[in-house]
Amino acid sequence: MFEFTKAKNSPVSDEEMISDLQKVAGEIGTEKITQKIYREHGKYDESNICRRFGTWNKALLVAGLSISNQQYSDEQLFENILVLWQHYGRQPKRAELANTPSTISQGPYNRRFGSWNAALEQFVDFANATELNAPLPKEEYLNQRKTGRDPSLRLRFKVLSRDNFVCKQCGASPAKNPEVELHVDHVFPWSKGGETTIENLQTLCSSCNLGKSNLTE
Ligand SMILES: [Zn+2]
Repeated sequence: MFEFTKAKNSPVSDEEMISDLQKVAGEIGTEKITQKIYREHGKYDESNICRRFGTWNKALLVAGLSISNQQYSDEQLFENILVLWQHYGRQPKRAELANTPSTISQGPYNRRFGSWNAALEQFVDFANATELNAPLPKEEYLNQRKTGRDPSLRLRFKVLSRDNFVCKQCGASPAKNPEVELHVDHVFPWSKGGETTIENLQTLCSSCNLGKSNLTE
């Protein structure tokens, strides 16, 4: 039924490799194509595919296929969107799902939301939903914790969007300089009693964040 031909001498393009991966996924009816499955049903040498894309999973990501059978929760799908939004300092594009720092390909988004645009819409709705975090009186800071150290996805998105994905201290932004990495930072340190509330959080680039923690220590 399947014919295996190793195209040894003719150079194979990335597109040909990717479309053959997608073809095999379609034929087998699963998105989790292991190297073993591909060896049996694919057209090209799987080790060449690994070499071309770096790793097997990387090739699967580029092909829009899942790297595992894992079912992603909405929170995980949204978290990956936030990681990309933070990385690029703007709304991420569909094609960027295939590149680091993304860890989820477009397959799970399409299955869950129908399309990448629908996923983005759902993410923004989710992130903009009301979240109450009433500021506490100062005296209570040192006695008891009202919030955990790590801000929720929703809170991080709110802080980053409020600060326009720009470092509050030096103005650096990943949209202008891809080297810039943004962090959500506690203005008054959590370790000293600062709470994880929108009022006590700010966007800092990694170098300003590092400079700040050196000062604090
Ligand atoms: Zn900065």
